[in-house]
Amino acid sequence: MPLIPTEPIGSIPRPAYLQQAMHAYTQAEISSDDLARLFSQATRETIISLEGTGSPVISDGEQSKPSFATYPIHGALNLDGGGVVIPFEDGHTRQLPVLTSGPFRYRNFAVDYLREARKHTALPVKQAVISASAMSLLYPAAGIDGYPQSQFIADLLDQAEADIRKCLNDHAYNVQIDFTEARLALKLDPSRGLLQQFISLNNQVLDRFTAEERSRIGIHTCPGGDHDSTHSADVPYPDLLPLFFQLNAGNFYLEYAGEKDKVSVLQSIRENIRPGQRVFLGVTDVLNPRIESPQEIRDLLVQAAEYIPLNQLGSTDDCGFSPFADDVSTAREIAFEKIRARVEGTKLASAVL
Ligand SMILES: [Zn+2]
Repeated sequence: MPLIPTEPIGSIPRPAYLQQAMHAYTQAEISSDDLARLFSQATRETIISLEGTGSPVISDGEQSKPSFATYPIHGALNLDGGGVVIPFEDGHTRQLPVLTSGPFRYRNFAVDYLREARKHTALPVKQAVISASAMSLLYPAAGIDGYPQSQFIADLLDQAEADIRKCLNDHAYNVQIDFTEARLALKLDPSRGLLQQFISLNNQVLDRFTAEERSRIGIHTCPGGDHDSTHSADVPYPDLLPLFFQLNAGNFYLEYAGEKDKVSVLQSIRENIRPGQRVFLGVTDVLNPRIESPQEIRDLLVQAAEYIPLNQLGSTDDCGFSPFADDVSTAREIAFEKIRARVEGTKLASAVL
């Protein structure tokens, strides 16, 4: 393994032909077989391009995930509109569905994406899954007759555990839990109660794994990137990190390049990271089309190494480049160029450290 490991977060913008096909499918203009064939083609093309960046670990680019958050329930019948609304700074919103009846079961597990990706590459593949805390938002505040919240949570913990375990068992290089609502939770509830509740729920999932398995499980947090806007960038990291590092995971993937006050972030990581945990700092800003130079990425990591022991440091992108399937705000080529810069810059940092 290189001195400083480097990994992607996950998503890459879908090619235009796939966007069009996904729309055509919703209009019943093409069959599910046609769509599946195009998903496979886009995954193969994305993996070839990711291999071309020199990235030692790759993902499937989430080409066939409807979104990072909703893939487990995509196509489920016991859902309705009108769930939790997530407001972004530019005024646009994303709304989750709401569960209408039990039992709660994942219809799709992330291992299916992993299997498809592994058909196309011999490189290590990481797989992202959604957090149990995000899925917990599906249960309606008013409750469901005959399906109490306690039973929902018990089912949710089983499903979230299975989602991770299937990937570990099917040769994922590692698994990343997308916990983008962590920072948002502090914005919605500054008393930290909601964040504590989310962390406790996710730890109940993590505690079902052995220490060795947890060394292959990581958590991603960011201020939520969608259509080049965020939902919680105004919440200071030092408010989040003391609780965040209480998650019993091995790896932490933090949005970082987009942060203004980087020294306070590094100080907070130094104070809160625990032995055996590794932090992967985002070194490419996914909300800005400017392509970072390898030299500036090297310098970011060299500075970070003044605060974080080298054996606990890694690099990543700030977020996925297109967490929602219909987000085309970052061009595909720009995403690959940024990843190439991350890989180069991380090598340069490894060479001087
Ligand atoms: Zn993110």
